[in-house]
Amino acid sequence: MKYISTRGHAGQPANPEFCDILLGGLAPDGGLYLPERYPQVSRAELDAWRGLSYAELAFAILSKFITDIPPADLKAICDKTYTAEVYCHVRAGDDAGEITPVHWLEEGRLGLLELSNGPTLAFKDMAMQLLGNLFEYVLARRGETINILGATSGDTGSAAEYAMRGKQGVRVFMLSPHGKMSAFQRAQMYSLQDDNIFNIAVTGMFDDAQDIVKAVSNDHGFKAAHKIGAVNSINWARVAAQIVYYFKGYFGATKSNDEQVAFCVPSGNFGNICAGHIARQMGLPVARLILATNENDVLDEFFRTGIYRPRKAAETHVTSSPSMDISKASNFERFVYDLVGRDPQRVAALWAEVDAGRPFDLSASAEFARIADFGFISGASSHADRLATIRKVFEQYGVMIDTHTADGVKVAWQHAAELRAGVPLLVLETALPVKFSETIVEALGREPERPADLEGIEKLPQRVTVMAPDVDAIKRFITERVTPQ
Ligand SMILES: *Cc1c(COP(=O)(O)O)cnc(C)c1O
Repeated sequence: MKYISTRGHAGQPANPEFCDILLGGLAPDGGLYLPERYPQVSRAELDAWRGLSYAELAFAILSKFITDIPPADLKAICDKTYTAEVYCHVRAGDDAGEITPVHWLEEGRLGLLELSNGPTLAFKDMAMQLLGNLFEYVLARRGETINILGATSGDTGSAAEYAMRGKQGVRVFMLSPHGKMSAFQRAQMYSLQDDNIFNIAVTGMFDDAQDIVKAVSNDHGFKAAHKIGAVNSINWARVAAQIVYYFKGYFGATKSNDEQVAFCVPSGNFGNICAGHIARQMGLPVARLILATNENDVLDEFFRTGIYRPRKAAETHVTSSPSMDISKASNFERFVYDLVGRDPQRVAALWAEVDAGRPFDLSASAEFARIADFGFISGASSHADRLATIRKVFEQYGVMIDTHTADGVKVAWQHAAELRAGVPLLVLETALPVKFSETIVEALGREPERPADLEGIEKLPQRVTVMAPDVDAIKRFITERVTPQ
């Protein structure tokens, strides 16, 4: 499988394969990598996949996107990654070792797809643990090292650090918005004492941190000399890994491959739901992809109106679902590439506007007229909605959900009537409530349950450097800790 850039110039080598783009971030032209075509899944394959374990299914799907790792090696990487020890540590025993079980709120109608039972209690572990093992494998094969530079609004950073800690040849420099994450999220990241992990708290918003990562990555000389790589949500391998649980969730929610499923996805950078879009393009019977935002509703606005109007950092709301406090959705370009008929010139022109701080408007275009063909609908949620939804789900079903999942459930309820009867609706559970206990206490008047191994984590010593959102200062910080080659 070859990869292309959404803006038309995928760089060197001319037709990169998976391992060529694994360690990088953006394509050299500023675009995002995508496979040159989406592999199609036949009915016979879908039937054969229904009974597979998570690791087997991951191998079957990823084999279609990763053709430059010998199958036996890729199989070993999938088997090593997707184990009950890593992914069932929270609710061990509940679900007989299933890695992403469906937890029905209403049997056969409304369920949670549990994606948050991994080491950092958020869905990002689903892809990031695989990335850690892929990096280790490819770096060892090439005798190389990498310095991962990332920006996080909370969950990406901890998932990346837990996936990369102690890995040979890997350092992690992770920028986070100073004072904008929950106490638990800060403790998860900043308490890591591994020598290869560097936490930098930037005095700004997530988007400021993300802009720094983009600026450093666009300095090709610095990037090459310091072997800068990325694990933020633009990384293609993460999107690819996330495709797997849409298939697994589909099989978990249905009895036959004649049925359809709808997914509702709490969204920020559009990474998670982008994987759902690709699963659907591959032929998974997905009736609807319902995109849920919080008050930062840039994506909801696009799917309702056709106007993409990224907000400035100063216009970004700080909310109680902070991992969705994003006003410029980095993976959205991948979807728009498909929407405009995979035309890189078109995408380059649209993102020239975005990069200049301007909106683009597809409302009158022929492409936007066909948006329903892609299955997307959307909605937004507010702090009051989250509180009400957390309460209602707890009272009606005895299930405690986190603030992001609550945004999803709220928007799912808003659209449930539009679904054909008999189409189960799965809301992707993107984090566990303990990560956002401040809001759970506000909603329910009680603390969420906490896994035993995370008792008292906020009291551990923390290792973090606070810095201004200054590209040069952050480059110096990296240089002082890395010997250029
Ligand atoms: C990252 C994250 C999201 C948003 O996912 P995207 O892939 O950025 O759309 C939603 N909820 C939680 C808990 C997250 O960590």
